[in-house]
Amino acid sequence: LRHADQWCRSFNHFIAQCLIKDFEARPSVTHLLEHPFIKQAHGKDAALRKQLSALIQDQQNAGSRTRTRTKHERINTRKTLLIESFPDDDLVNLEALDEETIITHLQRRYEELQIYTYVGDILIALNPFQPLKIYSPQFSKLYHGAKRSDNPPHIFATADAAYQGMVTFCKDQCIIISGESGAGKTESAHLIVQHLTFLGKANNRTLREKILQVNPLVEAFGNACTAINDNSSRFGKYLEMKFTPTGAVMGAKISEYLLEKSRVIKQATGEKNFHIFYYIYAGLYHQDSLKKYRLPEKTAPRYIDSANSKVMQDIVSSKLYKDQFDAIQDCFRIIGFSEEEVNSVYRILAAILNTGNIEFTSTTSQHQTDKSEVPNSEALENAAVLLCIGAEELQEALTSHCVVTRGETIIRTNTVDKATDVRDAMSKALYGRLFSWIVNRINALLQPDIKSCAAESGMHVGILDIFGFENFKKNSFEQLCINIANEQIQFYFNQHIFALEQMEYQSEAIDASLVEYEDNRPILDMFLQKPMGLLSLLDEESRFPQATDQTLVDKFEDNLRYKYFWRPKRVELCFGIQHYAGKVLYSVNGFLEKNRDTLPADIMVVLRMSENKLLQQLFSNPLTKTGNLATSRARVTAASRSLPPQLHAGRTKVDTMEMMRHPEETTNMRRQTVASYFRYSLMDLLSKMVMGTPHFVRCIKPNDDRQALRFCQERVTVQLRYTGILETVNIRRQGFSHRITFDDFVKRYYYLAFRAHQMPESSKENAVIILQKAKLDNWVLGKTKVFLKYYHVEQLNLLLREV
Ligand code: ATP
Ligand code: MG
Repeated sequence: LRHADQWCRSFNHFIAQCLIKDFEARPSVTHLLEHPFIKQAHGKDAALRKQLSALIQDQQNAGSRTRTRTKHERINTRKTLLIESFPDDDLVNLEALDEETIITHLQRRYEELQIYTYVGDILIALNPFQPLKIYSPQFSKLYHGAKRSDNPPHIFATADAAYQGMVTFCKDQCIIISGESGAGKTESAHLIVQHLTFLGKANNRTLREKILQVNPLVEAFGNACTAINDNSSRFGKYLEMKFTPTGAVMGAKISEYLLEKSRVIKQATGEKNFHIFYYIYAGLYHQDSLKKYRLPEKTAPRYIDSANSKVMQDIVSSKLYKDQFDAIQDCFRIIGFSEEEVNSVYRILAAILNTGNIEFTSTTSQHQTDKSEVPNSEALENAAVLLCIGAEELQEALTSHCVVTRGETIIRTNTVDKATDVRDAMSKALYGRLFSWIVNRINALLQPDIKSCAAESGMHVGILDIFGFENFKKNSFEQLCINIANEQIQFYFNQHIFALEQMEYQSEAIDASLVEYEDNRPILDMFLQKPMGLLSLLDEESRFPQATDQTLVDKFEDNLRYKYFWRPKRVELCFGIQHYAGKVLYSVNGFLEKNRDTLPADIMVVLRMSENKLLQQLFSNPLTKTGNLATSRARVTAASRSLPPQLHAGRTKVDTMEMMRHPEETTNMRRQTVASYFRYSLMDLLSKMVMGTPHFVRCIKPNDDRQALRFCQERVTVQLRYTGILETVNIRRQGFSHRITFDDFVKRYYYLAFRAHQMPESSKENAVIILQKAKLDNWVLGKTKVFLKYYHVEQLNLLLREV
């Protein structure tokens, strides 16, 4: 009974809303008031009952022909009822704003399975770690075009706000999902896409179906099981859903950032390779096609067997993997990949697995020492056949390299270590380029029809889902890049919520008591500044062939004189960083190699000679990653011009030319490093984010054991603290989340106070007339803009709809 009572309390508002929506179809709505839990309600719940009956009454009045109240009264009553009766939904409405109250509040909601809570217009999402029944099409319907206060907070409400914002103001929108690894970013991104496809239906069903397949497909190639999350994103993803001016979906485009290629060749203990390798193994096994793809049948290839001899059995007998393989086949087909293309993708994946099995032994001859050989040529031959290249040429390229000195070409042999490195570099390059190709191909298949004129005037909602902040027992170069990217997102969040807000208040001569917040800009500068930031130092050291891990860490220590950097005394070859989200200890082991990420020219030459069309494409076009050089460059330059000055002032100037090639590519220009490519990617990402109106979703992980309903106060507090939620609550409560120029305001809302044909002048005075006529309170006038609370816009739009 206690549970039922709790349930009733959390959901009766919701039920009421559902019923009200269906009011005409279900006149028995008043039965709700007869429900025993509501009837027996007392105390706070009695008030709820009263409000509920007022709501229903209100709806009945609205539905009836005889109006007993004015429109304005009705709207105001609804607003008051909703905001006052359910203050729980928004932290901004809490009386006390201390950490403890907020945590207890979130905990209570979480335990009642209310995983979503607002902080003004930001959505907090606590990972439920269990499937919830709140994402069906009925829920999409419920949130479609609804006022925010009509329903409990929901990820669909955020998606809906972005969509409505796009359609109403003809402006691109951007939903930024952040949170640490395993907090629920990717799931949230899926749900947003689901709701947006629901909203943008139009008549193109096939396109909608295609868009829904994009995430599962790229995630099969870009996600993997880590120590923290079984489906961890190992790349950053920005998905733009494109719409016509009337809001019908017309295409999609993904941008991918920094795939963790090193996972292809090695995984930390307890972790796995990218999902797709296991899927194809299980799928091809069930199709009896392992032979066709020359995949070993008894022992799993080294790249997917993390020292576990049972692994082969586990993989092939896994129904999950097999089902996923079938699902991926469907994704390819629905999106529009040809059979030949899919076959080539499998061939390349199988070739990578075979490449990993190529072994080298050392031989010494009279003249040459440390020469490497391939004792068992089966894996080598398999890889060569699958890649449609000559086995001998491949062996040559792996075990030797050409050096040009004084115009003469000399062939030098590779040691076993060197040959192994070349082999692994080849696998990483193959996988990285294959991934980029798949993304580009999806983009080509889902690009809006350029013949339709709507395509030119279309708008988009972008969804950013990147790898979350990571802190493992052992952290390497990959974690550093991931964490820097998260610093950048946090910086953008801070800039948007705090700094820009304060600056605008000041420039509009509005009194705003400055809100304190943790500015992570100095940390970001420490990483990104040129020439003395950590990434530049790493690049500089990577250019010295004699550099070692030791010289690198010494260089960091000598040059990075920041309080965020330290060198632990007792741990060799390590350095620590105080990130916005906590302290992380990095081991520099392998940093230089990973940053150089070189693919020897000899391998490049061999792969370019392949008879496989896809492979030729992967290695012939240096611009596969970013597409057309000129457009990309123009976009980045244009975007960086439109960045608010705080976002790039004093920071690195990004050399866009430098970034347009694959990181591992060696050309006659300066060598491209992963760090410099990464720096460009961040800039590119930022440029995309600042182009649209942002919406923030902050995912929070309630516990580290992935347990449903377990709310670990300590863990949640830490995340709320470092993500700046507390400060956000403060600023949102005091602040004005919407500001509209007098000109725009009058143009948009003059119907509320003037006759349609009047077209009043866009002045401050007329803005005031409209505000007064709409009977809003608590607004403020700046020098050029009207400053509104977040709920004012809803009220105004509602009034507009009723005019
Ligand atoms: P990473 O940074 O490692 O990619 P992430 O933030 O993207 O992590 P997800 O993969 O989205 O995390 O979520 C981890 C797991 O949590 C999911 O596989 C799922 O089991 C669970 N989960 C997250 N959100 C939800 C939800 N809304 N409903 C049910 N389960 C969820
Ligand atoms: Mg993810």
